[in-house]
Amino acid sequence: MRVNTETHLECVSCGATYDLSEIMYNCKCGDILDVKHDLDSIDGEVLKKKWDDRWGLKRGVVSSGVWRYKELILNTDDKNIITKQEGNTRLYPAGKAGEYAGLNNFLLKHEGENPSGSFKDRGMTCGITAAGLYNAKVVACASTGNTSASMAAYAAVWGKPSVIFIPAGKIAYGKLAQALAYGGITLQIDGNFDDAMTLVQEVCAEMNIYLLNSINPFRIEGQKAIGFEVLQQLDWEVPDWFIIPGGNLGNNSALTKGLQELYQLGIISKIPRVAVIQAEGANPLYTMWKNGTDFEAVKDPETIATAIKIGNPVSWKKSIRGLEWCNGVVEEVTEQEIMDAKAMVDRAGIGAEPASCCSVAGAKKLVDSGVIHPDEKVVGILTGNILKDPDAVVGYHKDTLQEMGINGTYANSPVSVKSDMQSVKNILDSII
Ligand SMILES: *Cc1c(COP(=O)(O)O)cnc(C)c1O
Ligand SMILES: [Zn+2]
Repeated sequence: MRVNTETHLECVSCGATYDLSEIMYNCKCGDILDVKHDLDSIDGEVLKKKWDDRWGLKRGVVSSGVWRYKELILNTDDKNIITKQEGNTRLYPAGKAGEYAGLNNFLLKHEGENPSGSFKDRGMTCGITAAGLYNAKVVACASTGNTSASMAAYAAVWGKPSVIFIPAGKIAYGKLAQALAYGGITLQIDGNFDDAMTLVQEVCAEMNIYLLNSINPFRIEGQKAIGFEVLQQLDWEVPDWFIIPGGNLGNNSALTKGLQELYQLGIISKIPRVAVIQAEGANPLYTMWKNGTDFEAVKDPETIATAIKIGNPVSWKKSIRGLEWCNGVVEEVTEQEIMDAKAMVDRAGIGAEPASCCSVAGAKKLVDSGVIHPDEKVVGILTGNILKDPDAVVGYHKDTLQEMGINGTYANSPVSVKSDMQSVKNILDSII
């Protein structure tokens, strides 16, 4: 692939570097790769001005909330870029969810407002564009759902086939529906996400298919734009904290990588702290961070937050590196905490899928334990749309998640009523 500014790949472990002439996901030593931009050739002030000038554009590739920042993402000509105008998502005052977390300055960046309903679109526009630049003919991924929904949508725009490896029966309904609808070739693997991930890597290598999991370093580049866009929405005033859910750990790695680049360029002059939140049943990063032990995969990850039900996250080294840079923390939350926080996010009129609400559940926990002060400025990332997982929503509100150990604490159950005025009146009188 050819790009317009000096860019190369660098190994996270041994530091070996590679140019972009060949498709690579791993270093010769086996570890994963970062995209490195030549920051010395960039003037931070000039770049920031350019990005601010693009902010109000009504159309065109660089009005996308990813490609607005193309100089630090993937610097290629607009004609090569496959975009669905992703990004430009809202930054909401957290309202009820803020009160619940005990925070006075809590904003929620709603990445579920992306075109296919999750932040994955930010990485995917970049990954599919890279696929085009490498002249790939077919793309593939293993997915807990949102990556496949996003990949299928972008491949459809691109006009090439996409192959999806999903764990059989373990994918939220909305996500499966999207993959099928956008025309993804959908393979239901008899195993969990980690099994599907291993298999897709083998198949891609064997069949010359371009792999679009977050092991693909270009996807991480696109996802950096979440942080860039939040900061631009805040007029480059840096919050004290970002809080973000962690599954395969690509997104938090992207966030800290992007922040680090902005800091190095002098575009920001303060380093925000980042808190990564994992589900208790899929918590390898938390365990490692808390106990100071070596990384160890979780064998049978389990959580209602299917988007983060990952036991062997591919990006854990990048994640730890980023957390060390920003003095970050890792927290874990229970199933009940996730779903109660979700009820609050939803009742605030914002709404998000279960995994997203780890940001709010984690915020509450970190405030309660004194790690975050109630007056600190905090931005929580909501990663996916409320409609992705209707089963989880209805299950909570009908209080039928007991077998998963989850109570409908804040359930808003539907009320059955006879079809006449007096019956309706009796019920409403008792409620309002
Ligand atoms: C993919 C995803 C996550 C996890 O992000 P990672 O980069 O895998 O850590 C969290 N929430 C939602 C909704 C997702 O789709
Ligand atoms: Zn290496």
